[in-house]
Amino acid sequence: MKTLLIIGRGIAAQYLKWKASSQFHIIQVASNDFAPACSVNSSAVVALRKTQKGITPLGDIIHDSFFSFEKFIEQNNPKGVEAVNHYQLWGEDFKQVSNWDKRYEGFNISQDVAGFSLKRKVRVHQERGFIIYTQKYLDWFDSEGEFQFVNDYIISLAAGKAIGRRGDYRADIIVCCAGVYSKLLLPDNRISQTKVVQGSYLEWENDFPQSFSLTFEEVNLIYKKKERKLLLGASSYENGFDFMPQKDQLRAKYEKINALLQNRLPSFLSAKIHTGLRHKGVKRKPYCGKTQIDGVFSIDSFHKNGWSYATWAGDSLFQEVLEG
Ligand SMILES: Cc1cc2nc3c(=O)[nH]c(=O)nc-3n(C[C@H](O)[C@H](O)[C@H](O)COP(=O)(O)OP(=O)(O)OC[C@H]3O[C@@H](n4cnc5c(N)ncnc54)[C@H](O)[C@@H]3O)c2cc1C
Repeated sequence: MKTLLIIGRGIAAQYLKWKASSQFHIIQVASNDFAPACSVNSSAVVALRKTQKGITPLGDIIHDSFFSFEKFIEQNNPKGVEAVNHYQLWGEDFKQVSNWDKRYEGFNISQDVAGFSLKRKVRVHQERGFIIYTQKYLDWFDSEGEFQFVNDYIISLAAGKAIGRRGDYRADIIVCCAGVYSKLLLPDNRISQTKVVQGSYLEWENDFPQSFSLTFEEVNLIYKKKERKLLLGASSYENGFDFMPQKDQLRAKYEKINALLQNRLPSFLSAKIHTGLRHKGVKRKPYCGKTQIDGVFSIDSFHKNGWSYATWAGDSLFQEVLEG
């Protein structure tokens, strides 16, 4: 059996491990202490938002990823995923009103959404989406197959070899699933063009009757009933490896949605803030394929859609490279 070394323990790595575990001896190396995973600082919703195929290459990937994620969930019933109603809301004064009216053709106009009585009537598109209990979902993949895990930080990569702070690791094939930190590990010209985009969200413990996901124009409000967590976000800030949350952006988002909900939200100051670093690819596209180092592949640039891209990227890499 060939040895596959997977670097990372975010959703890209966990899905690939699940996919490859019956055909490879797997060594997984990750260090969430030295390189905090975006996946555990993610508000984590999957919704199609009426993305259609055949319009842009990115739209095609988003579309295919949604359906490969949905199929994976339906066939494997992993822990940590819940199907919910996703509501897309916008007002007649929204700057993208004509685009959204077209995109979400057939929408309703309502003042009552997800159990909230809103301040005014808004346009509402409702669809099936998924919320993810991130730690539970990531952990589920560990229970599904054989692998060897090492907590170490990889300093450099070469053909068939990764050098860590604690030791060296040899493998037939290496797949780097290091999120934004791929920028520090891979020499590729492509990766140097990718960007680090910080995202933060607010979190409270709260009680609502059921889970939901709601996007009012560009602000997301998510309730994860099983953990009693209410999430609001996310901010977006491009400034390299910077973890300082953008509180002004978050406050503006909070005020916007709290006004619509007639002040039903807990106070801004009582929220806990989570911050993660998203990896924005060239033309916002995710990547899965070769790197400039022989025998080293990468899955990266998941940006804002990592939870559904993971199934698409893991399946593609497996079919094109690992299985062959
Ligand atoms: C605020 C916020 C909200 C978001 N909301 C959504 C959403 O609603 N829906 C959605 O689909 N996506 C969302 N995303 C994006 C999504 O969370 C990410 O795209 C996804 O989690 C990235 O997963 P990954 O496995 O590629 O990277 P990561 O989760 O960052 O994992 C990288 C792994 O590599 C390890 N690593 C890195 N370098 C090294 C090294 N040198 N040595 C050892 N280990 C290393 C890290 O420790 C980590 O385990 C959001 C992101 C943020 C920040």
